[in-house]
Amino acid sequence: MTKALSQMTIHELHELLKKRAVSSREITQAVYQRIDAVEPRVHAYITLTRETALKQAAAADEKTKQGTIQPLTGIPLAIKDLLCTAGIRTTCGSKILEQFIPPYNATVISRLKEQRAVLVGKTNMDEFAMGSSTETSYFGPTANPWDLERVPGGSSGGSAAAVAADECIAALGTDTGGSIRQPAACCGIVGMKPTYGRVSRFGLIAFASSLDQIGPMTKDVTDTALLMNYISGHDPRDSTAVNREVPDYTRALIPDAKGLRLGVPREYFGASGIDPEVEKAVWEALRILERQGATLTEITLPHTEYAVAAYYLIAPAEASSNLARYDGVKYGYRHPKETDLRDMYEITRAEGFGAEVKRRIMLGTYALSAGYYDAYYRKASQVRTLIRQDFEEAFKACDLIVTPTAPTPPFRQGEKLNNPLQMYLSDIFTIPANLAGLPGISIPCGLSSRGLPIGLQIIGNLFEEEKIIHGAYCLEQNSDWHLTKPSLA
Ligand code: GLN
Repeated sequence: MTKALSQMTIHELHELLKKRAVSSREITQAVYQRIDAVEPRVHAYITLTRETALKQAAAADEKTKQGTIQPLTGIPLAIKDLLCTAGIRTTCGSKILEQFIPPYNATVISRLKEQRAVLVGKTNMDEFAMGSSTETSYFGPTANPWDLERVPGGSSGGSAAAVAADECIAALGTDTGGSIRQPAACCGIVGMKPTYGRVSRFGLIAFASSLDQIGPMTKDVTDTALLMNYISGHDPRDSTAVNREVPDYTRALIPDAKGLRLGVPREYFGASGIDPEVEKAVWEALRILERQGATLTEITLPHTEYAVAAYYLIAPAEASSNLARYDGVKYGYRHPKETDLRDMYEITRAEGFGAEVKRRIMLGTYALSAGYYDAYYRKASQVRTLIRQDFEEAFKACDLIVTPTAPTPPFRQGEKLNNPLQMYLSDIFTIPANLAGLPGISIPCGLSSRGLPIGLQIIGNLFEEEKIIHGAYCLEQNSDWHLTKPSLA
């Protein structure tokens, strides 16, 4: 059976575009046809930009006629709705930004535009990226294309579902504690959080600034390498975007694993709360990599058990400060009734934010308040240093660290919504990399007995995305999981 255009990858479509076997207009139309067919059930998008997309596709086709075609030219991409897009509503999944139309583009958006990529729409997400299930969105939940009663993970669940359901060719997400990798695992796709500082955060609506990173969510590892080539790099508008050469990540697409030393952290296996099926799938993948020439060593990351606690002090502390700007004055929602200034602030924020966002603001404000700062925020920052040191030590003995991405396959909608602590534990394996600033990828590595996707995480040392791509590509080329698709029946 031949693949529909919407099912293809960036690199497959690029080959067709280069040969002029297909036009960007045809690809874009195929993607919207697919959206028309499945979006009512999946709800991956908050905003669709059909008209401008078709114009961008026509412009890309014009450019192609002149013979200048880049790998992303004419490719329909979806963007998480917290990356600012000039003239296009950017809501962050919140009522408070329901009508916000940014006057400028995030740097990653400008970079994609320079390549003449096509923007399909803005994807659904947990409100302000706080969540692991895309259920806290003001615009309603997204369904997992593999099982519509289950969550797609979060917070970039809209992007993950859109890629898995072929409602776009690839997408961008953001990851503060796992929000690219965990939904990628839940939806059976590839998702990469780059090193902190690899990709500019200019125009990313901040949640926790010392943790947030933008990254690709794709159908295979090659597409992740391609997107990394174009979104990475220095940006004078983000002082944390490191001035360091961007390699050609596609050169790391090496099908064997010779010479790769894989570290298997003791603390990530056999712990309570991990589904045995997830562990089994990860071990089978490790054996594949071993057969391809990798060596396995057991390593230890002793402070892992404190990562979630430290994260839930640091991330809310930063969020409470970042979200202070939504006060009804500068932009976004304002409570309509005439009141005095203080009431206006209070009612605007009470009405504009959802329960999870309020919980984080309260937690963060408390953790930073005079008298508690030392006990909570400072302590959490010290734990963060210990976690970073664990990784430094571990990387003396290995090149890459392999773990499950999430402790369980995707759970049912509603299952954890009223139990925040349970929800927070969904990110137990992804949070440490954010705290340490390290890059990590999630790639599909199996299906549970219920037919639900399982993801494997590979964490690398700072700026060693190439090694991650190498390991991930090797596993992909020696297994078929990335070719298994949801039936969306
Ligand atoms: N689920 C985590 C949280 O709610 C991580 C979110 C993210 O990475 N944006 O904070």
